[in-house]
This record gives sequence, structure tokens and C-alpha cells, in this order.
Amino acid sequence: MAIPIEADVPLAPRTTLELGGRAQAFTVVRDEAALIEALAWADDRALPLVPLGGGSNVLVPDEGVAGLVVDIALHGIEQRRDGERVVWTAAAGEPWDAFVAQTVDAGCVGLECLSGIPGRVGATPIQNVGAYGQEVAQTITRVRVLDRRSAASTWVSAAACGFGYRDSRFKREPHAAIVVAVEFALVAGTRAQVRYPELVAALGGRSEAPPHEVRAAVLALRAGKSMLIDPLDDNRRSVGSFFTNPVVEAAVADAVVSRALAAGLVERAEQVPRWPQPGGAVKLAAAWLIERSGIHRGLRRGAVGVSTRHCLALVHHGGGTTAQLLALAEEIRHAVRAHFDVELALEPTCLPRRGAQPVRAVEP
Ligand SMILES: Cc1cc2nc3c(=O)[nH]c(=O)nc-3n(C[C@H](O)[C@H](O)[C@H](O)COP(=O)(O)OP(=O)(O)OC[C@H]3O[C@@H](n4cnc5c(N)ncnc54)[C@H](O)[C@@H]3O)c2cc1C
Repeated sequence: MAIPIEADVPLAPRTTLELGGRAQAFTVVRDEAALIEALAWADDRALPLVPLGGGSNVLVPDEGVAGLVVDIALHGIEQRRDGERVVWTAAAGEPWDAFVAQTVDAGCVGLECLSGIPGRVGATPIQNVGAYGQEVAQTITRVRVLDRRSAASTWVSAAACGFGYRDSRFKREPHAAIVVAVEFALVAGTRAQVRYPELVAALGGRSEAPPHEVRAAVLALRAGKSMLIDPLDDNRRSVGSFFTNPVVEAAVADAVVSRALAAGLVERAEQVPRWPQPGGAVKLAAAWLIERSGIHRGLRRGAVGVSTRHCLALVHHGGGTTAQLLALAEEIRHAVRAHFDVELALEPTCLPRRGAQPVRAVEP
């Protein structure tokens, strides 16, 4: 049966930023067969295929998105016991936080710190979603993908996913594969280890707690930073963190410390947040750099601004454009460059921009 394809579908309501133009063509797929059909439809017309989950980490150009945008709505969750491990397989379209809640309720440890992250399961391997000291790379065992060239489904082992900080092979090669399911190996247990100092403090100094308590503490911390989707929150239209933490060479980090000391921003070098990375690199805190570059929470530039609760989150207040948001992002990047000579990279994905040609209806 031919899948229904719509032309010129507004994408803003399908994103958490509520910004941007229309999809050249759009469809919703609920199983792998429909996804294969969508792929064939796009290939026949030499159009790109753009997977969309919950729209919580994408920037939609004001001109619209080129190609066929596919709402990945595959559903289903399974679990099986494997010794001490509980292996969960979730389809790409399952809402992420409901899945996390289900694993926590089932007495499993491994995803509790990732509570409250918006979006769907299928997007979590793309940027190796992480928060509060956990990332999905720690528990993903394999990812089922549809290869876009061969239209065949295969399992990709975690080792072959090329996970890094907010990064994966899927993010680096966005046209190679569509995620249809993700497998996680969790541990059946009553105690979750907690490493992230802010979370340890929220748990009253405990570095070990039942997973449901960790989940509750994470949700409370996130609510305080407008990092949960709350329809009543003025900061609600965002993609969470707009910038990743820069990972730089040690010499660059040392230069940041020197600049901070010279400018009187800190009294001692240890006050500049830095985390050593494998291979001698150093991760810096994007939020710290932004706030020390004169950008403050609540800054407004017309219809867009910086969250009043977190300077890493850029917020749309309604009636704005993606171009305005990107101009604000560039203003912030410029400030950090001028103060610290460090380049900030955007965390969300910019979807492919529709060309300047007149809007043309797509014949299904
Ligand atoms: C308030 C808020 C808080 C957030 N907090 C965090 C956080 O703590 N940590 C964190 O890591 N992220 C965070 N995010 C970002 C975002 O929620 C995650 O990156 C999430 O995994 C995106 O899921 P999604 O389904 O909305 O993906 P989308 O935004 O729809 O898509 C994101 C990217 O993945 C691609 N994609 C989506 N589905 C598939 C698929 N099935 N196959 C192939 N490619 C696909 C899209 O093409 C796009 O490039 C936050 C966002 C918000 C709004």
C-alpha cells in the first residue's frame, strides 16, 4: 500500500523551539515496511530523506526543509533477562522519558540519570545523549538501523557506533542510516551509583541511591533549570543546551586560564572549570565561558533570548525566526571568541535548507 505523502507541511509545531518553515514533503512511518517505502519514494525523486523524532534537537530553516521529512513513529518495547542484566529493546519512536520511567519502575539501573530528556528513543544514539554523569553509550549494546543505500536493516554493535561526547557515527554520517530500534543492557538492582557532584548534593550527599530516587532528584534539578518540557514555563521553547562543551588542546585550556586570571574573573587557576579528556585534551564548560563573556541569563534580542535559568539554553519567546535565533547564537559565539579565543559548536542539528526556488507541490 502506498504511504500517504503530504506536501508543504509546517514543521514548527513539530519542534520544541516552534520555529522554522515547511517540509517540502512529509510522512509518518509506523513500521519498517513504511520506512522502506518512504526511502524508495525519496530516492525515486532524488530527494534527501530527513528523519524526525520529537523535534527537540533540530533547527528548522525559515525557508523550509529540503526533501522528505519522515516522522519516525515505530513503537514497541521488549525486555528479556540475561543473568544479572536486563536487555531492553525499544523502537525508535518510543518517547524517551516514558521508556526511562518504565525501566526504573521495573527495578533496572542504567538510565535513571537520563530522566526528563525530551524526544524519542531513536535519536538518543545520534548525539550519544547524556546528562548528570550518564550517557547512552554506557548501556547501548547495539542499534538497529535501516541502511539508506541498500534499504536493508542490520544491527550495529555499540563498538561500531563510534560514540563520543555528544557524537556518534550516525551524527557524523547523517545520510547513511536511520535508527529503527535501540538495545540497552541494564542491571537489575536497587542501588544506582551517582558521580555527578550536583546530583550527589541533591541526594543529600549520597553517591548511591535507589534508581527511582535518582530519577526524582534529576527531574527536580532539571525543572529548576527549565530543562524539562513544561507548557507553563516561559523558557519552554528551546533545544536544551544550544552549545556543546568545547574539547580543546591542553595549551588552549591553559590560555583560557591565563585570560581569566588576567581579566580578574578568577583568583586561582582551579576556579576555571576543566575536565581532562583521554589523549591529553581538556573539556571546558561552555556555560562558564558564556557567562564570563558578558552574556547573561534572560538576555533578550526581540523574540529570542537566553533562558532566564540557564545560559546554555537559547529560547524562542514566540513570533520569531530561526534566523534571529542563529544571529543570537553567533553573537554569543563571537563574545566567547573575543574573550577566550575558543570556538563554541552548536549542539542541535540544522536540517537541510530548502533552496531558493519557488515552493512547488510534491506529487505523491
Ligand atoms: C528542554 C530540553 C532539555 C534537553 N536536555 C538534554 C540533555 O540533558 N542531554 C542531551 O543529550 N540532550 C538534551 N536535549 C536535546 C534532545 O532532547 C536530545 O538530543 C534528544 O535525543 C533528541 O530527540 P528527538 O527525538 O527530539 O530528536 P530530533 O530533534 O527529532 O532529531 C535530532 C537529530 O536526530 C536525527 N534523528 C532523529 N530520529 C532519528 C532516527 N530514528 N534515525 C536517524 N536519525 C534520527 C534527526 O534527523 C536530527 O538530526 C534537550 C532538549 C530540550 C528541549
